[in-house]
Amino acid sequence: MIEMQDLYKVYKNGVTALNGVSTNINQGEFVYVVGPSGAGKTSFIKMMYREETPSKGKIYINGVDVGTVKEKNVPFLRRDIGVIFQDFKLLPRLTVYENVAFALEVIEENPKKIKRRVMNVLEQVGLKHKARFIPAQLSGGEQQRVAIARAIVNNPKLIIADEPTGNLDPETSWEIMRVFEEVNATGTTLVMATHSKDIVNKLRKRVIAMEKGEIVRDEHRGEYGYEV
Ligand code: ADP
Ligand code: ADP
Repeated sequence: MIEMQDLYKVYKNGVTALNGVSTNINQGEFVYVVGPSGAGKTSFIKMMYREETPSKGKIYINGVDVGTVKEKNVPFLRRDIGVIFQDFKLLPRLTVYENVAFALEVIEENPKKIKRRVMNVLEQVGLKHKARFIPAQLSGGEQQRVAIARAIVNNPKLIIADEPTGNLDPETSWEIMRVFEEVNATGTTLVMATHSKDIVNKLRKRVIAMEKGEIVRDEHRGEYGYEV
């Protein structure tokens, strides 16, 4: 599903964030991306949803050459990708319902269908009863669950999460991981950058470890492998 071929990212300031990265991720995989700060994890992830473009090398998602997609076609590429951030990035003035509904690609869908779909995903993340709340009225874990609902509402084939539990306490983090596992169980690919040694070592998945812009380890049911 995701194919990276000798990918480089050199930012304008001259920093090399990706230094020849090659890997494949199959549909349905759950992958942790680990490594010290500055290793290139966020850059690795940003390549997947065309937040950054490669300086050299190729990244394909489902056969599409992401680096050369025309700007006007980027929204189509992103339709199949849900992105989740450490700081949630919800729209503060919109309700929970509106935050999720807004992200829904409305292609000649009738309002009833839209409402059903939004309420279904809110139920899936356990927040149906808070549909009318605004983000500031929710806990961090609840806000992240809204962000997950927003990310999955279009049934994307790929979910990318950059430190999704970075702002959450351990117990809340586990709740978020349970939601991710459910999403992954339906066949959705999940790629998650994380510093949580506890999660990686307890909920074993594929681990891609990065250092200085390179993949230094890639293990099936791997370990975190760093002291925190
Ligand atoms: P990580 O997520 O592992 O901390 P990043 O991909 O964020 O790694 O960063 C890798 C390197 O690239 C770091 O040295 C960082 O300072 C640098 N970097 C990241 N984004 C930019 C940017 N937009 N402009 C310049 N340098 C950047
Ligand atoms: P950035 O500036 O880092 O690109 P944005 O604030 O544009 O981030 O978007 C962050 C997230 O919020 C993305 O997942 C995007 O799809 C989503 N988003 C942006 N604008 C809206 C909106 N008006 N309604 C719902 N979701 C939005």
